[in-house]
Formats: sequence, C-alpha cells, structure tokens
Amino acid sequence: MTRFTGLCAALLCAVALRAQPVPRPALILVVPEEDTTITTSPTYRLSAGTIPGNALSLNGRSLKVYPTGATAALMNLEIGENRFLLSASNAAGTVAEKAFLIIRQKPMESTPADTLRIEGELLEPARDLWLNRGDMVTFQCKATPGCRVTVFDSIALPEIAAGEANGLRGIYRYCLTLRGTERWNGDSVRFTVKNSAGSTAMRTAYGTLSDKSAQFPLAGVTRGDRPSLNYGLGEDRLGGAKLSFLAPGVRLAITGKNGNQLRVALAENQEAWIQQNQVDLQPAGTPPPFSLTGSWGVYGDDKFDYVTVALDDKLPYSSFQEFSPTRIHVDVYGAVSNSNWITQQLNTKEIANAWYRQVEKGVFRITIELRHKQVWGYDISYKGKMLVIRVRRQPERLKLKMLTIALDAGHGGSNDGAIGGTGAKEKDINLATVMHLKHLLEDEGARVFLTRQGDSAVGMYDRIVSALAGGADLLISVHSNSIGNTTDPEAIHGVSTYYRHQCYRSLSQAIYHSVLKTGLVQFGNVGGFNFALNSPTDIPNVLVEQAFMSHPGDEMLLLNDDFRKKIAERIVDGVEDWLDGCDD
Ligand SMILES: [Zn+2]
Repeated sequence: MTRFTGLCAALLCAVALRAQPVPRPALILVVPEEDTTITTSPTYRLSAGTIPGNALSLNGRSLKVYPTGATAALMNLEIGENRFLLSASNAAGTVAEKAFLIIRQKPMESTPADTLRIEGELLEPARDLWLNRGDMVTFQCKATPGCRVTVFDSIALPEIAAGEANGLRGIYRYCLTLRGTERWNGDSVRFTVKNSAGSTAMRTAYGTLSDKSAQFPLAGVTRGDRPSLNYGLGEDRLGGAKLSFLAPGVRLAITGKNGNQLRVALAENQEAWIQQNQVDLQPAGTPPPFSLTGSWGVYGDDKFDYVTVALDDKLPYSSFQEFSPTRIHVDVYGAVSNSNWITQQLNTKEIANAWYRQVEKGVFRITIELRHKQVWGYDISYKGKMLVIRVRRQPERLKLKMLTIALDAGHGGSNDGAIGGTGAKEKDINLATVMHLKHLLEDEGARVFLTRQGDSAVGMYDRIVSALAGGADLLISVHSNSIGNTTDPEAIHGVSTYYRHQCYRSLSQAIYHSVLKTGLVQFGNVGGFNFALNSPTDIPNVLVEQAFMSHPGDEMLLLNDDFRKKIAERIVDGVEDWLDGCDD
C-alpha cells in the first residue's frame, strides 16, 4: 500500500561509518529526493527543514514551519514541468534556496490512428512462462486502433472496447487455453499489426513461451534461508502474501513458471508460488512428493511438547490457528492418511489433544489443541523424514521477570529507514526507544537482548535467527512509519501495531491500546502483515510503528527523548496487560 511505502525502506545493508556531527544546514530537502522527479501522480509531497526560527516558502508562498524547523506540504502538479523554489529565510532575509523540478507525465493515450505501430507498453507475455496443459496464456498489445492484430501469424486478437481498457483504444487481447500440443520451447511471441491498406508493423513480446506439459510435474527441493510459499503472483514492497515458510530440503511438485517464480502444486485444488532461487529443480522424471502418513508421537520433554508424524518424504506444509478452544492446524500437502494409531504420552504440558483429518485429496490436516488460551509459539521442521511440530509451553509464571524479550530496532548502519523533515533518521529514533525499553524491562527483572547493537546493519534473516536462538519468549520490533511520496503528509499520523498470525493479535492489540495513552492518534492495528519479523510462528511477536516520520508533528514527538521514553513505558504496560489477560 502506498501509505507504507517509506516504512522499512530498502533492507540492503552494508557497513557504514557513522558520520561526524555537522552543523545543521539552513535548508534541507528530504522529499523529493532528487533534483528532477518524474511521476504520473497529480500530487507529490514536500518534506523539508530549516534551522528552528527560520521561515520557509515554496515559490513565494509561506509554509507552516514546526518548532523543530520541519515542514511538510502536498504539492499539486500540472501535466509537464513543475518548477519549485524552496527558500529559507531569517529576519535578515533569504539564507538558502533549493530549486527542484517535478515532471508529471501525461496518462497513457491511445496510439494515434494515423501511425502504424505496436507499442512496447502493455505487451503480454511480459515474462518467460512455463505452461502446463489447461493453463491460460494472455496475449496483449497496444497498437494502432482499428487494425487486424495477430500473434504467431495465425491467432487473431480482438480489439477490446475502450470502456474495458481505461478508455484506451487499440488494446488487443486474446486468452488461449493450452492444449498441451503447442510444443513451444522458449518461443518468442511476435505480434503483427496490419491496417486496411495492407501495411504491417511488428513487435516481439518480452516474455517467451515453453509448453512443459510433457515434463510436469517437475520435482523441486527447497533451499536457502526461510524459503517461502506465496499465495499468488501479487507483489508489494514486502514481497507478496505468504502462505507458509518452509524448511530447506522440502520436496515440491512444480507445474509452471512465471518470470522468476515457480508454481507449486500443493493439492488438487491448491497451488502456490515460490522464488526460483529457493528451489533446486530435479531432473525430469523424478517422482513428485507423496507420502502415506505413519505412526505419530505426542509427547513432551523438559522444555517443549511435540507432535511427530512419520512420513516417507519431506512434504510442504502450512499452518493456521483457531481460538475457543485454541488449536494449531498444520496442513501437510501430498500426504494421505495411513495413521492407525496416535500414541499420546502423559508428559505433555501444553498439548491437550492431537488428531487429524484428511481434508481433501492430498491435504492431511493435523490439529493440536492447547491447554491455554494463548499460543506461545510453535515451529515445524523435519527430523530425517519425520515431521516435527514443536510447541512452546506457556511460561509457568506470567511475569516480566520470568521472561526473555528480544527487542529489534528497525534499520541501522547504511539503512537509515524513513527520514523526517528535520533530516532525523528513523534508525536512530528506533534505537533510542529500544534502549528505553531495554532499561525499563530490565528494571522489571526481564532478560533482554537486542537484535542490533548500536548503529549496525543487520539483515532481516539474521534478526529472526538471533531472536530465536537467544531463547526469547517474545519479540518486539520497533519502527517509525512514513507515507508514500504522493500522499498528503499532514493527513496521516499516529501509532500502529502489526501482527501476521492470528494467535499474536492479542499482543499487538494490548500494546496498541496502551501506546494510545501517550496521546498519539490511532493509525490502526494491522493484521496479516507481511513483515519479516512478524513471520515467525515460533514466538509471540509484534511490530510497533511508533508514529510517522513523514508528519512533522509526529516527528517532533519522536525527536523528544522524554516522549520516546513514554512510548517505551506504554509498550511495557501493554505487554503486562497482555500477560494479565493470559489464563493460568
Ligand atoms: Zn522502518
């Protein structure tokens, strides 16, 4: 979503030396980031700052300057060149100026009828496709209206009505269902447009076609750090909606490819997508994953409870949770029940019961009922080919002094995160709040460790690994928000908390309600959030976006260390409220 565009910006990290403090400049321009910006948006935001007490104006019109020296505004853009001059002045007159240009592009127009061409825009297929019998492939081009358009010199593409194509004429589209006899093997797709006079023009699509019906399903094996299954090909800044994270070595049935994404057949009516670089493809003819389920174990050791199911193959899985009663469901794909006994030992402390249901062909659902209302975490892995679901127990005493808490200060090192109008960096504000949190929690007797110490660059995967390896009972990630560059910066502010898994909603809500007592306005409690540190099921986790760097009023609060301490105090209160709400 646009409004999250600035949050957790690029996570590319490299070690950077901390810059020496320099005198504050009379004028800094944060957004737009470049001297020349090209956009199709009718608006763009301004984020800038000056020395407190100075005045700021844009093209001669004075701007509201906050006590920090920051300003924010939404600029309206005409089609074409929009020139701006930002000026800072004090009582003696203008002290600094900065000019910038924003070019607003025209919306896409129909190809003129008096030319004959196929445009490079809107061409499909746009990516290389591996197709299976029955798949649909869309051919599309934008070309001179009122002509005859074909692909492969044989398939005619009808021109679709302008009302179906954002008002554009000359959009030609045809959807073909693969018969499996096409024999394409990396074939290019050439479009030809022909006018009534018999003249022609051609263009080749960027994507190629391969008919792999004869080889599918191909077997693949997951590899690397936290390979993940996505529901579809949708993308956002955080990488598309995730169905499940898998262990390495899990075998998958591959039945298609779109660009760098492989399609995974999970069951007869369920599919998912995975990045190609997370899979080792096996030679054609390798059997796809399948297993009958064997005997179960349901038992506890001195720390955890377990459900194990014997399988003949490392099959993919996903999980979800339900409440009243509290249950964890794990769907295992490609498994067919042959489990005739489920031995339940008496040494489980969290697991009340475990059973299964063959939900549909190829979907074997393991259900684990817990004794407590709150899920305190679980993870799914393989020991050899045995599926192991390890369930964390609720701590015996629900007090901070009995807990270990991982604190994650967002960004760091070369990754500044969002930048406020004063030039303040999100990474520094996040760390300052986290240090308050650390001291407050330690004062309560909690054991605390940090996923980043100081101004260092730490990757997302390493943050997750260190939080889990450190034996944390809880993970709290602290960030500061920002809106996208085309949104009104003064319209959006306030605090928000985020969770991905339903079982951790209660924690994010408790913290949200508590932090609102600081006077920050509500931005929201956001579920299903696709943020890396919300992805583990292993321990309760929450993302706190304290307030908006892009809003000068919020930034002013975030720059105030007393206020950051208040936020930290309210986060601690929120955790305590949540602990109080857990049943014994
Ligand atoms: Zn962030």
